[in-house]
Amino acid sequence: MGFSYDELTVKHPCFAKGKKGNTGRIHLPTSPGCNIECRFCDRQINDFERRPGVTSTIITPEEAIDIIRRSLEMCQAITVVGIAGPGDTLATPYALETFRLVKREFPQLIKCMSTNGLLLPDKAEEIIEVGIDSLTVTVNGVDPEIEAKLNGGITYHGKYYGGVEGAKILIANQLEGIRRIASAGITIKVNTVLVPGINEHHIGEVARAVREAGASIYNIIPLVPQHELAHCQAPTCQQTDSARQQAEPYIDVFRHCQRCRADAIGVPGGEDFGDKIYLKRISHK
Ligand code: SF4
Ligand code: SF4
Repeated sequence: MGFSYDELTVKHPCFAKGKKGNTGRIHLPTSPGCNIECRFCDRQINDFERRPGVTSTIITPEEAIDIIRRSLEMCQAITVVGIAGPGDTLATPYALETFRLVKREFPQLIKCMSTNGLLLPDKAEEIIEVGIDSLTVTVNGVDPEIEAKLNGGITYHGKYYGGVEGAKILIANQLEGIRRIASAGITIKVNTVLVPGINEHHIGEVARAVREAGASIYNIIPLVPQHELAHCQAPTCQQTDSARQQAEPYIDVFRHCQRCRADAIGVPGGEDFGDKIYLKRISHK
């Protein structure tokens, strides 16, 4: 058994319930591909943008081990090895392969994985067996009509499902996956990208549904307007606050998200060692 929720609230910077934590994380950009089409997603390989879905490079599971070693020398605050893209961690096998190596080489580090949840029911056994300590699932809506406004479609078991049809499968798999993983004792955080005019009044429902499924903590990520949702407004502080208030009756809320890059290294919000560590093998724009 890995770390309990109470332990993670102290040792994992993104599971802190109250004040901002001072522990750090390494994001390993091992997972380039994705199986869904979030309308706000703009994955990029570059060195300058500070937001999710951006990385300087893609690395292999073997390269990840060397990167962890060098990162730990540079930043002693690191307690967590996380994989958050730049695509989905379950769309390709590399994230779970990497965590197997991490478990062997750095058993003291918390293994943290983020996913859109489409393949969670399929991969639940493997996630449990690999020993993931904390899982983040991004659930942007639990109503298929709302989710379809945020996500164009999914590719699932080799077939494409668009709009509401795809959204129904995605939501069912996210909630079923959360149930399976939570019942194995793994702590789950849910992220929701807050999009004014689309899901801003739906947050309470999402929080209630994911809490019922077994999630422990909830994180609202304000939209970075881009791609098909470039015309949307980023939420104001007031809108973000009101969304958190909708969630709070149901679930603990994490309030210190820094919307990190997929290759960030260090304490979230502090110095980023990522650009000193990652090889700039591919760089454009
Ligand atoms: Fe982009 Fe992540 Fe959505 Fe995939 S799940 S489309 S990588 S935001
Ligand atoms: Fe933590 Fe938010 Fe950064 Fe993810 S994006 S590592 S939840 S602070």
